[in-house]
Amino acid sequence: MPELPEVETVRRGLQPAMEGARFVHVETRRGDLRVPFPKNFVQRIEGQTVIGLGRRAKYLLADLSSGEVLLMHLGMSGSFRVRDNGEEGTAGRYHHERATHQAHDHVVFKMSSGAVITFNDPRRFGLMLLIPRNELADHRLMKDIGPEPLGNAFDAALLASACRGKRTSLKAALSDQKVVAGLGNIYVCEALFRARLSPKRMASTIASRDGKPNQRAETLVTAIKAVLSDAIRAGGSSLRDHRRTDGALGDFQHNFQVYDRAGEPCPGCKGKIKRIVQGGRSTFFCPSCQT
Ligand SMILES: [Zn+2]
Repeated sequence: MPELPEVETVRRGLQPAMEGARFVHVETRRGDLRVPFPKNFVQRIEGQTVIGLGRRAKYLLADLSSGEVLLMHLGMSGSFRVRDNGEEGTAGRYHHERATHQAHDHVVFKMSSGAVITFNDPRRFGLMLLIPRNELADHRLMKDIGPEPLGNAFDAALLASACRGKRTSLKAALSDQKVVAGLGNIYVCEALFRARLSPKRMASTIASRDGKPNQRAETLVTAIKAVLSDAIRAGGSSLRDHRRTDGALGDFQHNFQVYDRAGEPCPGCKGKIKRIVQGGRSTFFCPSCQT
């Protein structure tokens, strides 16, 4: 499942092809992805200009000149390819290889920029919806999403108040989209390692009893922002430097310090990285460095 940095690099990859450009031709090759396409999907998009391409949590949001927003979600296996001036590349970087088989090309946008954007999604958990701009904030997919971790509003005080009295693990709290938007298994593990906090630690221990942040909350927020910024920067550079069509990420995953590294030496203490299961998902951490 793509996490925030992947979606953000996809956004940055699509931006030059989409922003300011008009949909000249839109093609859907089946009736649905995770759910059916909205009624008259093609007609509602064709001829519209993309005023801006934004992101909220893991949703891409294309503001259309019609006043509607085209909401796009990659699901488990979705990816975008952009063909521009004969050159084809995958928009953004992905931690897992993305399919490019034409049988899974479900949506094609031909833009007035000359770019052809293809959405490929073998497992079809992706999503495309059209929502009036003025109803977006109250939409069921948007209304309960917590703060953007890279936004100025997300700080130690906000995280501490969200974790106040929470008797779940820090891992569970940070994976909760209501607490903070867009984090998943990978970046929760990486951020907790950077902050030297155990994923098993109770979430309430980053706040005082009245919900004020302590040093742990400060360190954790700094770590979350840093790990996401680093990943986006690496994704941005891999996007520029190697426009790969196979969707592979090159060597980015080698930047993970603990994720998917069970049994390997911890970059901090050279002890062994451990894997445990929390909430049905793997957690990777160093039992010595993270307390
Ligand atoms: Zn260690």
